[in-house]
Amino acid sequence: MLRELAELVTGMARREARCGLLTPPFVATGREGPSVRVRLVGCRLCGARDEARVWPAPMRADDGAPGPVLSMLACESLTARAVLPIVTAAEHFPELRDARFTTRALTWAALSHLAPEDALARVDAAERWVNGPDESPGRTLPASTRPHRPGAAWPGYRAALAPRFLTPHPALPSWLDIQYEAERRSVLLQRFEGA
Ligand SMILES: [Zn+2]
Repeated sequence: MLRELAELVTGMARREARCGLLTPPFVATGREGPSVRVRLVGCRLCGARDEARVWPAPMRADDGAPGPVLSMLACESLTARAVLPIVTAAEHFPELRDARFTTRALTWAALSHLAPEDALARVDAAERWVNGPDESPGRTLPASTRPHRPGAAWPGYRAALAPRFLTPHPALPSWLDIQYEAERRSVLLQRFEGA
């Protein structure tokens, strides 16, 4: 089981690293660029609820307008760069222009009845749309997450800065987070050193 988890984690880390190297679309000064609308979903584990947030571009609150929508847990937070795969996919694949995406944490929350290695394999499979719309049954965003702690005192805020590859809540052994981050950084360093 641990070996299967470790292999999945390595593959997911490499995928996020590759997505992090995507080129954002060019947006002329003063023009409105593409956006990803965000829908917050209440968390059954910690009770966090949908509440107004200030989103960094290209994220914005879901107002029902056309375009891609990302659903995420109300207790998690993503960087603006994390949604870049959605922006570029909506640009390249017409069938993903109005697609509905979910974060890993939200996908994982719906798989809690499965064994960890089976649940993680499902998350991994649901991320393959980044290679093409027909590559996966799901639309999970390959991005690490962080706990959302508005107004937290410095120690709590500092703890929340550390990314977690799957969910803000304890889920898998913490060494997998360390392995994930090491693999992701290693891919990024290789790309930069080879550039
Ligand atoms: Zn939560």
